[in-house]
Amino acid sequence: MTGPIASKTTTPAVRRLHLNESPLPPAPGVVAAIAAAAARVNRYPEPDCPLLLGALSDYTGVSADRIVVTSGSNELLHLLPLISDAHGAEMVVPDPSFPTYRKVAGFFDITVHGVPVMADGRPDVDALLAAVTPGCRMVCVPSPNNPTGGLLSADEIERLVAGVPETMLLHFDEAYYEFGRQAGGVEALPILEKRKGPWMTSRSFSKAFGLAGLRLGYTIASSADLARRARGLRPNFSVNALAVAAGVAALAAPEHMRATVAQVAAERERLSDGLRAAGLAPFPSAANFVAFPVPEGDGDLAARLTAQGILTTAFQIPGQLGGQVAAVRITVGTREDTDAVFEALAACRGSER
Ligand code: PMP
Repeated sequence: MTGPIASKTTTPAVRRLHLNESPLPPAPGVVAAIAAAAARVNRYPEPDCPLLLGALSDYTGVSADRIVVTSGSNELLHLLPLISDAHGAEMVVPDPSFPTYRKVAGFFDITVHGVPVMADGRPDVDALLAAVTPGCRMVCVPSPNNPTGGLLSADEIERLVAGVPETMLLHFDEAYYEFGRQAGGVEALPILEKRKGPWMTSRSFSKAFGLAGLRLGYTIASSADLARRARGLRPNFSVNALAVAAGVAALAAPEHMRATVAQVAAERERLSDGLRAAGLAPFPSAANFVAFPVPEGDGDLAARLTAQGILTTAFQIPGQLGGQVAAVRITVGTREDTDAVFEALAACRGSER
């Protein structure tokens, strides 16, 4: 989806700023690779295609036997309770965080200890560690965190790596890895490698590489054994042939990915500046989205933006004084999308105040 869907008569154009997709299409070589692979879809895919694993090994610096390819990083999140044997046990995640963690925990009867993020929207490492109970089987922490956007520092990742008991799985979620690096974030991998207990970090082709529609993600595991366990739990052929071909081609066009990330990051700063100028207080973001608490007088801002044709995501954050505060997350789109957000905010907030 590269832009607004054409409107009919009076309906405003719809801008998809609710799913953290890339506003830009993938590299031309990726589209060509998908077309070529389409001619061979009579055959089952090869998820552990040596070309893709080799390219991922080069990209990450990790040996291919420790890499697991999945149908989006979502698939790995669905496997986590099986990988860590967490059925009926407990887990720790930041609050708010990517909702799939809680959804999957529900399927496996897992008690979730949600730990409020800090005032700047970043996961609170010390509070996360303090929330770990003997019944926990895993601790899951995204950096940048979705929906707030903040990154952990090297020191915080070190504390997490050392502090999560060795009997538990540490899942570090780097769906927005390339954006985090572009924003000056630390490379977490060498720090994770110091951990004595098991860990996994998952990443996505849906964001920086613009392949959300194809479903491709990968996970780096602390050991080849752990990667093998995840591979064994994956449904057969869950990663489709077009995604495999696209992944190989996308990794062969790093300059396209970097240009996409740079453009989106510049637009993110313009969006954040505009939100601040409108009297809002966006969280610092190192991802492809910006979130902010909704001032009381603004009512249901997400619904009001939807009425203006801007799709966003509404969520709740724990308030400083207890209770929950409404917040909105806006995906960074094109320059035109940002302008449309500014216009819509002026229109719908102006009418409320
Ligand atoms: N983790 C986080 C933190 C996310 O925000 C997302 C997507 N929004 C995912 C995982 C899953 O991404 P995908 O399945 O598209 O790779």
